[in-house]
Parts: sequence; structure tokens; C-alpha cells
Amino acid sequence: MKQLRNNVIRAGLDALYFTGAHHVLRPLLAGVGTIFMLHHVRPARDDVFQPNRHLEITPDFLSEVLAHVRALDVDMVSLDEAFRRMNERDFSRRFACFTFDDGYRDNRDHALPVMRQHNAPFTVYVASDFAEGCGRLWWVALERVIARANSIQIVRNGAAATLDASTAAAKQMAFDQAHDWLRTLPNDSAVQTEVSRLCARHGIDDGAIARDLCMSWDELQSFSADPLVTIGAHTISHCNLARDSEADARHEMITSRARIEQQLGQPVLHFAYPYGDKSAAASREFALAREIGFRTAVTTRPGMIFPENAEHLTALPRISLNGNYQNARFLSVLTSGAATAMWNRFRRVDAA
Ligand SMILES: [Zn+2]
Repeated sequence: MKQLRNNVIRAGLDALYFTGAHHVLRPLLAGVGTIFMLHHVRPARDDVFQPNRHLEITPDFLSEVLAHVRALDVDMVSLDEAFRRMNERDFSRRFACFTFDDGYRDNRDHALPVMRQHNAPFTVYVASDFAEGCGRLWWVALERVIARANSIQIVRNGAAATLDASTAAAKQMAFDQAHDWLRTLPNDSAVQTEVSRLCARHGIDDGAIARDLCMSWDELQSFSADPLVTIGAHTISHCNLARDSEADARHEMITSRARIEQQLGQPVLHFAYPYGDKSAAASREFALAREIGFRTAVTTRPGMIFPENAEHLTALPRISLNGNYQNARFLSVLTSGAATAMWNRFRRVDAA
């Protein structure tokens, strides 16, 4: 299914590009700004089985994106400056922000040098447990389990099911099915219980993954001192807030901010909802982020920034730089707003 969805998206991007529709639509759809969403930035790997590849782009592609945005005469600004422009309705020039979720070490090792070359500010949203070294990145754990296993067992419709994982194609299918199953579980601790069980059975140390991939507080201290870097919050445990009680959701948001502020000695004014789609962030979470006092909060809903978004600063859409579409010709389509306008059926603001 995922592969099919990827192919449909790719065909759509190609169609927009080859018909030139994105040029025609640009004045209507491009909006006043763009917030780009990234995760990992690191050199490409050869492995055939890379189910999380949509979450990583190469340093070269990042550099291409930055050159493209610069060539469009768009201002690359920090989130604080984007907030100022939206708050004061100062839309005399188009802007682009770059945001990276989760706090990966490769953001320092591979993204920062490229961002420096292009003098581009950016924000990294830190889940405080990941920096603590005790968080759980279950989607990476699942990848590591299936990479090593010949089959895995999950529970489907109340019954145990064995998924073949003996070939690269079977591994991809097993990952998609296990991933979809995990997303249906009632809460994050249920997801964690199941993933930990798989890890124990297949000899994967899931407790080590956060330390392996994410910056520690010590590392974040020197990283965040760079004038191009802003640190935002991303909850304590990287939970689906919409599935938490309101008290728990508030605690995740407030305490993650407090921990980062205490560790890094700087105010944290921006927030990203983990997962960030409609099942993970909606009106209750948007209101909480506003009440707690975040200046901006970003979702993973696709969209450009329009003047109307200034009324909904804790429900901002982003444009994903997806590792499955690292092709320069998709960039002009993405930055024209044509692709996201189609996804959003030409509705400019979706903040409900
Ligand atoms: Zn995240």
C-alpha cells in the first residue's frame, strides 16, 4: 500500500511538473511562506530495506533545496522572524523556514554544515526523553527488528499472525503491516509494549536507539549555541497527544519545554506535534499549545503559509522534504504550492 501511495504521489508531482500547471497556479497558491519539514540528513545508504527512508534526505539534496529557495528570492528566516511577520501581517516578502524533528545527531553532523554554507537559520524540535537517552524511537526499533528477522509475530484481529520477513520485499510488507497495526493501538504505552516485546525476541536493544541517533543534552548545549539554530519542543516521550488525556497532553508539552529550558538555558517558544497529522493534533492540541504560550506550533499537515494562517499560529502546515522524492524537478512543484493545494482540495487553511 505504501509503495502504491508513493507511486501515486510521485505520478501527481510528475504530472504537475510536466503539464506546467504549477507555473499557472503559482500566483494563486504559493502563499506568503513555507515551513519545510525534515528529519534525518545523512549520506544515502545502500540497504534495499529502508522503510523509514521518507524520513531522510542527503546533504546534497538539502543543498539543492536551499539553492532553489534562494534562487526564488525567498527570505530564509528563523521561526522567530516568521512569527514576527505573521503576527504583524508583514507579508511584503515571501519567507521559508527549515524545521527538523526529533533532535537527530546527523542534523549537527550533516545538516548544519550545509545550512551554514547557505546562511540559512533552522529549528530543531527536541523530544526531551530522546536527549535524555531514555526515549523510544519505535519506528527505528521496528526497522531493526525486521531487518534482522526472518519472520515476526504480531496480533491481528485478536489473533497471532506471523509475517514473513525473509526477503527485502517481504520485509517491506511486514514493516507496513506491523506499522499500521501499531498505529491502531490505543496509546503509546501499548505501542511500546509490543515493540519492546519484538525487540526482546529478536535481540535488538531498543533502549540504545535514542543514544545512538539523537543528540544528548551536552551535545545540544554546543549545537544550540550556533546563531543559526533555534531549539523547539516536541513533547517528553514523542507521544500521540490526541490519544492522551488532556492533563497528560498538557504535562507532555509543558514539561518538555521546561526540561529543554533548564538544560540549555534559553527560552523555548516553538513546538511541533509528534506525528502531527489529524489523528495526532487537532483543535484540543492547538488550543493547549496556545494556552501554554508557544508562539508557533507546527503540524505535519501539508500546506503553504497564507495570510489566514496568522490567525492559527499553533496549527501551522508544513511542506515535507521526503526522502522518496529527492528530485530537483519536484522542488518547483512543491514550492509553487500546486501539490499541497491539490492535497488540500484548494482549501487554503485547515486548522480544525
Ligand atoms: Zn517526531
